[in-house]
Amino acid sequence: MTKTAHNHLTRRGILGFAVASVALSVVPAFAAGRLDVVATTGMIADTVARIGGEFVDVTALMGPGVDPHAYRQTRTDILAMARADLIVSNGLYLEAQLEEVLADFAARTEVLAAAEAVPQDNLFAHEDYAGKFDPHVWMDPKLWGHVVDAVEGALTEALPEASATFAANAAAMRADLVSLDTYSEQVLGSVAGPARVLVTAHDAFGYFGAAYGWDVAGIQGISTESEAGLARISEVVDMLVSREIGAVFVESSVSDRNVRALIEGAAAQGHEVRIGGELFSDAMGAPGTYEGTYLGMIDHNVTTIAAALGGDAPARGWQGRLAAGS
Ligand code: ZN
Repeated sequence: MTKTAHNHLTRRGILGFAVASVALSVVPAFAAGRLDVVATTGMIADTVARIGGEFVDVTALMGPGVDPHAYRQTRTDILAMARADLIVSNGLYLEAQLEEVLADFAARTEVLAAAEAVPQDNLFAHEDYAGKFDPHVWMDPKLWGHVVDAVEGALTEALPEASATFAANAAAMRADLVSLDTYSEQVLGSVAGPARVLVTAHDAFGYFGAAYGWDVAGIQGISTESEAGLARISEVVDMLVSREIGAVFVESSVSDRNVRALIEGAAAQGHEVRIGGELFSDAMGAPGTYEGTYLGMIDHNVTTIAAALGGDAPARGWQGRLAAGS
């Protein structure tokens, strides 16, 4: 090891060393006409895979059930990022624990914070961090269209010879987003006005609420980092009782402990609340399943919420309607 490398190791620690040594020894994959892309969340990874088609290999750092607010990189993640031609994150401070490593890689690799392509006028302020925004923009398919645009742009820049494929795939995804949004508006609109309240473990559904005119209440805030206090739990219990809400929802990437506390609290006041289902808030379902895609995740959420709160939701959701050709 040279003196320079040693200094680098001392200053930056093991992470800097891993980045430096791996990056020097790997030939970029786009030499072979394919892009090696690393994405942070499943929603980003699926969007990149859909637009990139046969021209990209996508690695998602975060699998099903993983909480992106708390996720820290592993050594394997560092190696994958060092090999990548392009790294795509959600951004907007969603991956709070990865900020530093993403900034390190930005000095040597193209790093796109795709959700930061959403115009600021469409973003909500983050209640916990001054000057930051609510990162959960995937909850509104209209806003996700900006992410599709940004991903298409970054892939085209990295591999211009595949631009026609990227453009066609992005256009197809935009059409699906419009169709899913129309379905969501219809199905969620079939729930009676007073019942249009979505209660979940953390505040991931702000953009969903704004898009479809629903009230949303999370027990924990926009990030899962702070613990919910008893005062917040009893506040939500009081709302469930006074508005006679019959169902609350658990999230696949957050503990259900607080949601169960709500049910017990409401029961103590003589109001029965049940779990309306499991929603995919910050992580998708298992790879290879319908819920393991962005569109499937949103379809699942919308259909589950509407069905649990008395709406008119088709059993097989948006996907079933498409298959039936209506
Ligand atoms: Zn979240």
